Amino acid sequence: MIVAIDGPAGAGKSTVARHLAERLGFRYLDTGAMYRAVTWLAVERSLELEDGPLLGRLAEEHPVDLDEEGRVTIAETDVTEAIRRAEIDRLVPVVARHPEVRQVMRRRQRVLADLGNAVIEGRDIGTVVAPDAGVKIYLNADPDVRAQRRQAERPDIGGDALATDLRLRDESDAARMRPADDAERIDTTALDVEDVVRRIEFLVRARVG
Ligand code: C5P
Repeated sequence: MIVAIDGPAGAGKSTVARHLAERLGFRYLDTGAMYRAVTWLAVERSLELEDGPLLGRLAEEHPVDLDEEGRVTIAETDVTEAIRRAEIDRLVPVVARHPEVRQVMRRRQRVLADLGNAVIEGRDIGTVVAPDAGVKIYLNADPDVRAQRRQAERPDIGGDALATDLRLRDESDAARMRPADDAERIDTTALDVEDVVRRIEFLVRARVG
């Protein structure tokens, strides 16, 4: 069974997906980390971020490794912390919008999904990567609350700059990604992690019977 969790930044996807995976004994796959790692490598090598074919080849040649402890590795470099920097936040949508990059990423994500029993978080999981997922969730929350949550993870950035970054990233991502029609929508604005996890766990267990 695949549980697809999509939604914008700060909606609570990562925290919820990680807890849920632990609760269910499923694998956890963070597809955003894969796009972030390729972006990091492109920046590191000073590549032209508008060049889709070039970035597609970069992604093809350097598979992203995600281990069970949540460490992210690309081109033999541990980039777990580096991919959470504000610069990468800003540049990921620029890299992720190239069809050449998405094609490579989605192919790998499908291979991982085919192994079964996983909670997969991203933007296009329920629609494109795993349209047959047993449970599809679309998490969202008020923009102010999402910005506050991001602020807690990025104490080095000013609140206004962070809210602007989030809005620009939302606009760029939303132009390409929409919720699956059959996704269960959960607004996490006033919910805590445990509430959300319990709600999804209930859906999964109901589905399994
Ligand atoms: O989820 P996270 O905030 O780490 O994702 C970073 C960026 O990666 C998103 O803003 C989006 O541009 C891109 N992304 C994507 N498709 C996914 C996951 C992430 O395009 N499935």
